[in-house]
Amino acid sequence: MKFICIGRNYAKHIAELKHETPKEPVFFLKPDSAITRCNRPFFIPDSLGQIDYETEVIVKINRLGKCIAEKFANRYYEEIGLGVDFTAREMQKACIEAGNPWEIAKAFDGSAVVGKFLNKSQLPDVQNLHFHLLLNDRKVQEGHSADMLFSIDRIISYVSRFITLRTGDIIFTGTPVGVGPVHIDDHLQGFLEGEKLFDFKVK
Ligand code: MG
Repeated sequence: MKFICIGRNYAKHIAELKHETPKEPVFFLKPDSAITRCNRPFFIPDSLGQIDYETEVIVKINRLGKCIAEKFANRYYEEIGLGVDFTAREMQKACIEAGNPWEIAKAFDGSAVVGKFLNKSQLPDVQNLHFHLLLNDRKVQEGHSADMLFSIDRIISYVSRFITLRTGDIIFTGTPVGVGPVHIDDHLQGFLEGEKLFDFKVK
């Protein structure tokens, strides 16, 4: 499986990092070795500088798809969850400034936290989902999927023009505003529509 991650999908987050608003979805990949499964600790990597949390709605692809029309994209996922796209922020800035790929800042081991999934039949409209992150019991990020610049179906349609989607692939749909650094012993809890989907410690 692979992780497909969308960058710059919420206007206020684009403003907080002083990025340009994209005309098409911006995406990058993480390998399967990036996974941190449900509630296992996240280990801060050595020599990557500041590591930021980015809490994101995630979507699990449930069938093979290529060049998927947006109107059929909802047939390609049943499960929606919440994850963290851990990012080495200083490294990412250096990559952007140098015009280099972002992988060193985004694809490192453990950088893709995958929480529990919910069946979309248990949820309201996927573009009307509220989610938040508690860092040491304090709410630090709050998002609403209605604020995505590119909807989940649009993302699936766009990405599948270039990359075949396979069963088990996971899409990270971008972070809302409020990203910030993690430190050893931090406790992160993520909630989607009031349901806790991840709960882990930073080591
Ligand atoms: Mg992200």
